[in-house]
Formats: sequence, structure tokens, C-alpha cells
Amino acid sequence: KVKRSGKNGFRFFDAELNAHHRQRVSLENDLHGALEREEFELYFQPQVSLAQRRVVGMEALLRWNHPLQGQIGPSTFVPVAEETGMIGEISRWVLHQACRQLMKWREAGHVDLRMSLNLSPHDFDHPDMVQEVLSIVDRYHIPPAHLELEITESMMMQDTEAAAAKVRALRAAGLGVAIDDFGTGYSSLSYLQQFPVNCLKIDRSFVRELSGPMINPIISAITGIARGFGLHLIAEGVEQVEQVRVLRSLGCDTMQGYYFAHPAAATEAERWLITPPCALA
Ligand code: C2E
Ligand code: MG
Ligand code: MG
Ligand code: MG
Repeated sequence: KVKRSGKNGFRFFDAELNAHHRQRVSLENDLHGALEREEFELYFQPQVSLAQRRVVGMEALLRWNHPLQGQIGPSTFVPVAEETGMIGEISRWVLHQACRQLMKWREAGHVDLRMSLNLSPHDFDHPDMVQEVLSIVDRYHIPPAHLELEITESMMMQDTEAAAAKVRALRAAGLGVAIDDFGTGYSSLSYLQQFPVNCLKIDRSFVRELSGPMINPIISAITGIARGFGLHLIAEGVEQVEQVRVLRSLGCDTMQGYYFAHPAAATEAERWLITPPCALA
């Protein structure tokens, strides 16, 4: 679909491709100033403990309330923000907002609650990243252990030593670091020694395959890894009661997914702190 136009490059002539490209460019333009126009919003999804029968954590999930296109999810615009170098500013905003919300919930008495948020691999390129995280945590009076940063395996594969040093520094300061979508990347298990994370999140693609009494060998392997390394385990994308049963039988206690609650705005998410999701009853 790409036609060569002389030795210097390619000329796009396909109308569809052109439309796609225009959409991408307009998204990129709109993304500039979206922070200033206050178009971003954090949603929160509970992480529940079966044993404790309560919400033990909230994951902050970014939403973009686009003035014309309505709400846009992070899978659409985070890659654009990463490519254009805007992700750093956005991540800083997410950190502030997530910590501010946790502070409010702590002030309302929910002092055992943890907050998780997602970082981009690009955030680890900034030399001051660790200092910045620590100063924000401090500013909102958050005990470091109550904030968990979710990273992906892809982050551990690029510029390994510099990134590992940052993870070690964050952990040494008491912050939680979780590997998101664990098992979907190409990292080797030896990274678990170099990156002293404290939590693994089982990707929902593995949870989805759990139905009936069938045990997915990947999930049982991941639970074994978590146990062996002494890591906390969270299953994500839990949608059905059978999945809860199988995960529980494998020793996984903390879960997140539509079965318990969808991500929601802060005021709605707050209700689950007072009355836990009915699926826990
Ligand atoms: P993630 O961190 O793995 O987040 C889980 C995603 O699964 C969320 O999608 C959530 O809404 C969705 N989800 C939760 N429970 C269920 C379920 O039971 N079934 C299904 N099918 N889906 C479920 P969302 O909010 O669209 O976020 C997508 C991804 O975007 C996130 O995946 C994360 O990698 C990234 N992301 C989200 N917020 C941020 C952010 O603030 N910064 C950065 N850099 N990335 C973010
Ligand atoms: Mg996540
Ligand atoms: Mg995930
Ligand atoms: Mg995911």
C-alpha cells in the first residue's frame, strides 16, 4: 500500500491509510495542551483480598475526556504520548493525582489502602525519576509502602542496568513495584533477581482461559514463581466466579476485575471502600 516515490522516500496514496494518518496527527495535536485543559481523569479499580473480604488497593487508570471524541482509553493515546515525548508530563500528573486521592481516602479513615499506578518504560529514562517520585509521595504524606508502581517486562529489557538501579532505589525507599501483565513479555526469569520487585500481576489473558476446574499450567507456574521469590500476587481481569475458585485454590488471594468492580471515577470507587463489592459477600 506504500508506493515508492523516488529515492528519498515513500508516498502514501491509499486513502484509508491517509485517513488513519490524519487521525493519528490530530490525536497528537489534541494531546498537546490536554493536561492544561484538564481533560485527563483518573479512574480507580479495586483490588480485593478474598481472605480480608475488603478492598486492599486501588489501581489508577488514566482516561482522556476528549471534547469531541468523548472518553478515550490509555491504549489509544499512551503510545502516542510515548512517541512524542509527552508521557513524562502525563506520568507526573498521574502520580500527583493518585497520591492526592490516596491522601484524601487516608484522611477519610482508609489508612490501610494501597494505591497502584502504571508507569511507562520512558519514565525510567529520566535521571531524576526516583527523587521525583519520592518527593511527591512525601508531599502527600503517603507511607511509601502504600504506593505501588506497575512496570512492564518490556521496561526491564531496555537499558537494563540503569532501570534496575532505579527499581532498587525505589524498593530501598520502601515503595512497592509490581510487574504488570506478567508472563506476556519476553523477559527471562533471571530479571526477577536483578529487579527486586515485590509483586506480580497475572495478565488477564491467562485468567480468561480459566473456566471450570481446568487449571492453566501458566498460572500455576506463575503462582509457584511468586511463592518461590516471596512475591505478592494479584490476578487481573477476573470476570467469573469459576476463575475466582481456581485462583483461590492456587493460593492467589488478591484479585482485580469486572467480577468485583469496573474502573470508575473517584466518587464512585469510594463506595467500595465503605461497602465492599457484593461479589465478596
Ligand atoms: P493494565 O495496567 O494491565 O490495566 C488493566 C486493564 O484491564 C485496564 O484497561 C482495565 O480497565 C482493564 N480491566 C480491568 N478488569 C478487567 C476485566 O475483568 N476484564 C477486562 N477485559 N478488562 C479489565 P485500561 O484502563 O483501558 O488500561 C489499559 C492499559 O493502559 C493498562 O493496562 C496500562 O498498561 C495502561 N495505562 C492505564 N493507565 C495508565 C497510566 O496512567 N499511565 C500509563 N503509562 N499507562 C497506563
Ligand atoms: Mg496496571
Ligand atoms: Mg495488567
Ligand atoms: Mg494489561
